[in-house]
Amino acid sequence: MTDYLLRAARPLGGDPTDLLLRDGVIAATGADAAREAGPDAVTVDADGLVALPGLVDLHTHLREPGREDTETVFTGTRAAAAGGFTAVHAMANTTPVADTAGVVEQVWNLGREAGWVDVHPVGAVSVGLQGEMLAELGAMATSAARVRVFSDDGRCVSDPVLMRRALEYVKAFDGVIAQHAQEPRLTEGAQMHEGAVSAELGLAGWPAVAEESIIARDVLLAEHVGSRLHVCHLSTAGSVDIVRWAKARGIDVTAEVTPHHLILTDELARSYDPRFKVNPPLRTAEDVEAVRAGLEDGTIDIVATDHAPHAVEDKDCEWPAGAFGMTGLETALPVVIETMVETGRLSWSDVARVMSVTPARIGRVQDHGRPVAVGEPANLTLVDPTVRRVVDPAAQATRSNNSPFAGTELPGQIMATFLRGRATVLDGAPVAREEVGA
Ligand SMILES: [Zn+2]
Repeated sequence: MTDYLLRAARPLGGDPTDLLLRDGVIAATGADAAREAGPDAVTVDADGLVALPGLVDLHTHLREPGREDTETVFTGTRAAAAGGFTAVHAMANTTPVADTAGVVEQVWNLGREAGWVDVHPVGAVSVGLQGEMLAELGAMATSAARVRVFSDDGRCVSDPVLMRRALEYVKAFDGVIAQHAQEPRLTEGAQMHEGAVSAELGLAGWPAVAEESIIARDVLLAEHVGSRLHVCHLSTAGSVDIVRWAKARGIDVTAEVTPHHLILTDELARSYDPRFKVNPPLRTAEDVEAVRAGLEDGTIDIVATDHAPHAVEDKDCEWPAGAFGMTGLETALPVVIETMVETGRLSWSDVARVMSVTPARIGRVQDHGRPVAVGEPANLTLVDPTVRRVVDPAAQATRSNNSPFAGTELPGQIMATFLRGRATVLDGAPVAREEVGA
């Protein structure tokens, strides 16, 4: 295996140092790194680049099995590596649904074969995402995929009895229920955030209370049961307030925000361009400010992409017919740099915390989100924060092109990513490899 000598990288944005990657770990730093590097070590000029622990996404849709026309485990994890990730959690709303040990092991194996990042399948909470019968949570937990995160994402576990039973069940193996908080009766036919813009456009609205009422119920259920709850893609100011209250009360709840909810608003629906149609919907500028403040003060624990690839025909259409969802793996860090780092709200070590350390902890993922230090697994990414680039979906590694940031200039470029010391991205591009079975 090739050794890499990273010259003058800045771990967590700190002082420059050399890093030697050997046998899957960070073998040496500082002056020791160059001294111990053999003549065959490949030198990477990392001067000025920020070294972060490889990013960990708790919320990715890889679409395989079932919709390989939009994304596969191979292309989705290649996009993840291009975005600086070394581990992703693959959501369960595939066809078939990942609700058995067999399906989660299939996804886990596809991830291992692809080799871009570590793939951790999320198990469905209910059989077929139908919200009626509990899926084989225990069998998925003890499978080779060792599932710890369970979610019906795309749908809400709206039945409080089923939610209670799921929260109780996962305690046995330290699992967590990741809830897509959306009261279905309050969002029937909803097309966008309910507010002034939806009223003006005449599109059916999606009230903030549809999200907030489920989060309020679920934090109380988690407290009652004494279990772990994770709130997916929190998007409203009221949701931030509820999570803040729950944490102050000592409830074991964590929450995520997506990059797009940190920057985009419902004003974009005026374009009628379904690229801006997403679930939960883009909210108001006040909500954007509230989620930024929540991420800054730690109420919101992590950033998760909700990368949701879609076919051209599902996005190149009228707004009401458009599918919900946006790609996000390759723009996540740039959006966080733009909204949180360049505004002085998060340091680089905070970025490592919200995009690597804490998501790894919530997902109970070993070997990721570790310090950039000698003896630690060499799961790293190098980012150039000074570069500004215009997003071009055609140039991205994902198979789909439904990025809401197409044509937008964003800061930051991933220059290299290493998975256990093996380069998955070098010189700013994924390392060329053949897709297995493509
Ligand atoms: Zn969701």
